[in-house]
Amino acid sequence: MTTTTTMTKLVCAECRHENEAERIYCHNCGERLDRSVVAAQKNAQDPQEEARRRLQKMLGPPNRARQNFFAVSKLALAAAVVAVLVEIALPPELPEPTKIVSPQIDLDLENAASYRKPGPLEYSQDQINAYLAYRLASKKKALNKPLLDFVRATASFREGACTIGMERSLFGYSLFSRTSYRVEASAGKIAATNVGGWIGRMPVHPVIMRFGDIIFADLWSALDRERKLLGKMDAVNFR
Ligand SMILES: [Zn+2]
Repeated sequence: MTTTTTMTKLVCAECRHENEAERIYCHNCGERLDRSVVAAQKNAQDPQEEARRRLQKMLGPPNRARQNFFAVSKLALAAAVVAVLVEIALPPELPEPTKIVSPQIDLDLENAASYRKPGPLEYSQDQINAYLAYRLASKKKALNKPLLDFVRATASFREGACTIGMERSLFGYSLFSRTSYRVEASAGKIAATNVGGWIGRMPVHPVIMRFGDIIFADLWSALDRERKLLGKMDAVNFR
């Protein structure tokens, strides 16, 4: 016995003639037959078909759910991109621009160059920033890049890490990048390990920052003398 033979006969609403289940029009009078009975029975006999039909009903027309998913994903992606751009554009909290004075540090560095061991030195963040401003004022031209003018470099010290920040100007719009180092004095030498950075306020992982050091390459070469002399010093404390 197959399912088709078990199907109900279609009774014509007009003449009560019993038609075969396959018929669309009454074999006797030609009236259109009500086939909803057959459809209902067919679904009842095929649980798989019934389950599929119910699932489709639940999810709405085919692909609607999928379309929604992609629409939401695109929106989330756009929001993430905007968030990253805002983070990049936001100015970080940097030490205030310092008045350009000729500071003690320059003399200390001179001494380090001639006597090798100047003993432990201690500088405040303000002193370091004044020194950076003084030292880099004459090097601005060398630090300028096409479209990107060098504005200033800053140093901030917190929890054993030294963060060097750099402000550049693109068509008068400020761009900030910072790189952070853990500074340790061991065996009479000062060692610095990169612990990450930021572009604007967006954090950059140390691994990526190692490649990002290219951003600071000009600054490092502008401060080459200081870096070399710092290496000769026993210890420098920053507060
Ligand atoms: Zn009929």
